[in-house]
Amino acid sequence: MTFISGKDILSHAYTNKYAVGAFSAHNAETIQAILWAAEEEQAPVMIMIGQKVIQYMGLEHMKRMIDLFSKNITVPISVHLDHSRDFAQTKQAIQLGFQSVMFDGSARSFEENAAITSKVVKLARPLGIGTEGEIGKIGGTEDDITVAEEDAMITSTEEALAFVEATDVDYLAVSIGTAHGIYQKPPKLALERLKEISGAVNRPIVLHGGSDVPDEQISAAISRGVAKINVDTELRQAFTYGMLEILKDNPHEYHLANSLGNGREFMKEKVKEKIRLFGSSQKAQPFFEFASIGSE
Ligand SMILES: [Zn+2]
Repeated sequence: MTFISGKDILSHAYTNKYAVGAFSAHNAETIQAILWAAEEEQAPVMIMIGQKVIQYMGLEHMKRMIDLFSKNITVPISVHLDHSRDFAQTKQAIQLGFQSVMFDGSARSFEENAAITSKVVKLARPLGIGTEGEIGKIGGTEDDITVAEEDAMITSTEEALAFVEATDVDYLAVSIGTAHGIYQKPPKLALERLKEISGAVNRPIVLHGGSDVPDEQISAAISRGVAKINVDTELRQAFTYGMLEILKDNPHEYHLANSLGNGREFMKEKVKEKIRLFGSSQKAQPFFEFASIGSE
């Protein structure tokens, strides 16, 4: 296993114009699906622990499970805390040895968001842990929190720049037209704004709500500075379809290894597809070469 700071993984991706997939894990099988897909594709990967699974399974349990399953994985892995809205929880993740944390203060005032995010950066940076902040509200529902379409604003370049100057956060989540969850109609990303923000803040941009965004918009976003793409919904769908494939013909299939195992297989294939789309396939080796030059 090679756990790598989110900052280092994303800095290589940003410089080399590809994006690292940040995939949400929910249980043992989904952790394996993500890790095995990354290994087969020889791709650096971020594995995310989000608020829903923290309520359901526990932060420390998930972290320890990922550590355990990562034992024979050779690609760079970064364990990331997704959408923490509580400083104490973010701090706990830092203490548990995460390689990347996101504090999401987007529901707060600019000043409050900047003050807490800045505190997170000061705590994480000396330990080599990457930090993500969010400015602007991303629409949709995540972790039972819904942002209505009319409240999901496209982040302005001025507020993005002011936020980065106030916090010096390592990578920045912005609202550029994606949403969490399933889209009613295909999203249209604000690509010009993305380019402007990326040019102004000069650091990796994070795209949330990466499920079901048309492929050509994903590529356009990557070429304009997106280096981390969060995917959750599409993976949960794939996992569920895999289980249903077994259960629809035999609702009395009680060997969980068969239904969960097929879910894992379906999700692994979906993760591999995303890795190839994001351009991170076969980037593990170049990353390690870059990292060893960097450490000399
Ligand atoms: Zn998100």
